[in-house]
Amino acid sequence: MESVSLFAPASIANISCGFDVLGLCLDNVGDLMHLEKSNKPGFRITEIKGQDLPLETEKNVAGVAAQALLKAYKEPVGFKLKIDKRIKAGSGIGSSAASAAGAVVGINKLLGEPFSPLELISFAMEGERLACGSAHADNVAPVILGGFTLVRSLEPLDVIPLHSPLELAATVIHPEIEVKTADARAVLHNKIPLKKAINQWANVGALVSGLYQEDYDLISRSLVDEIVEPARAMLIPGFDQLKENATQAGALGCGISGSGPSVFALSKGMTNAHLVAKSMAEVYDKIGVPYEIHICPINPNGVQFIEPKNK
Ligand code: ADP
Repeated sequence: MESVSLFAPASIANISCGFDVLGLCLDNVGDLMHLEKSNKPGFRITEIKGQDLPLETEKNVAGVAAQALLKAYKEPVGFKLKIDKRIKAGSGIGSSAASAAGAVVGINKLLGEPFSPLELISFAMEGERLACGSAHADNVAPVILGGFTLVRSLEPLDVIPLHSPLELAATVIHPEIEVKTADARAVLHNKIPLKKAINQWANVGALVSGLYQEDYDLISRSLVDEIVEPARAMLIPGFDQLKENATQAGALGCGISGSGPSVFALSKGMTNAHLVAKSMAEVYDKIGVPYEIHICPINPNGVQFIEPKNK
């Protein structure tokens, strides 16, 4: 095999109560990537369409993740990458994670799959380190494994794939404003009152149980964030109203996607997810914030190989 084309999906990290540990993979929004073997050892990005991002290997998350893989592979091999960037960087739906995960899954395929999914997550995390300063896995894990994932530990890396009910559907509204990950981190408090911590880990446990039992009421009761959302909500225009409208329209829960500014809602079934989308759009139509909306089931596959279109 000399080349592969792939779809590298967007993802939602945190999912209300699961700050830095839970993530899920989206289905209809993602980057397209084309990887080719090259006679020249090393990794090069030859083209990025759709967005103004650096081609230099060491400045692009895809390049940094690929270098981590090549370092572990040890033999001299060469690859070229073209990216059609469809996820806006800094949108809070794992733009950097998609590039990092797509690059390492694609190279692994071309090498005959010498690395395990967990190793691929660890390489992709190096890309995340470039994007936000720390090597977190809550976006790259669902992009590589598909579905819902829980990062139990970073050192040693321990990632648990979770059951994802088939009917669960996501709505994501992306207000076209910038929230810097650094700012979103800066508003967080370093100390958490014990009472809130107890509620939070009770909700994480209950959410995981709700996913396995396909108990949508339990999922709904558990989609609560007492720690991060109250601090970050002010960074997102109309957040309280979005949540209010989504809930009124039947969403199981609604919260901040990653570090924002995107806001997600989960619903039972695509019909509800569409109603929720409409109710959220009304908020931004009214206050005049430009936005885009994604509505999709949870993607059980993660990165997917596709027929090459425009190499
Ligand atoms: P998101 O939350 O949408 O993933 P991040 O804040 O994680 O956004 O990542 C975006 C940052 O990563 C931006 O500063 C962007 O310039 C940088 N970056 C470098 N390479 C890429 C890439 N291939 N795709 C997306 N972002 C990249």
